[in-house]
Amino acid sequence: MGNVIDEETGQESTCMFCNSSDDCPHLVAVIDRTFAECNGGELYKAIATIRGLLSDTLLGMIEKAEDPDGDRVNYELAAIFREAIENYDPAHPDDIYIDEGMFLEWLV
Ligand SMILES: [Zn+2]
Repeated sequence: MGNVIDEETGQESTCMFCNSSDDCPHLVAVIDRTFAECNGGELYKAIATIRGLLSDTLLGMIEKAEDPDGDRVNYELAAIFREAIENYDPAHPDDIYIDEGMFLEWLV
């Protein structure tokens, strides 16, 4: 988990399963909320795929003119969806804006 410091203890984070301070198979994701970045972990390997699936889902919702506050999505997804609608440009229909900070908060 290199360079990850627990803000509450000031200590380097260690895995609760194997006590490793390095990346290990138990590490789900290293997410820097300040800079809205995912920098490691098993989820890091799949994050582009997850973002792509979310982008496809949002595009389908935009095309169907779904209500972002409808029952189908949770609060975080509704916020992402509203941002995607506000930034949607029909001239570039495949470019779905996904706010990285909101996306990572949703993943968390
Ligand atoms: Zn571990």
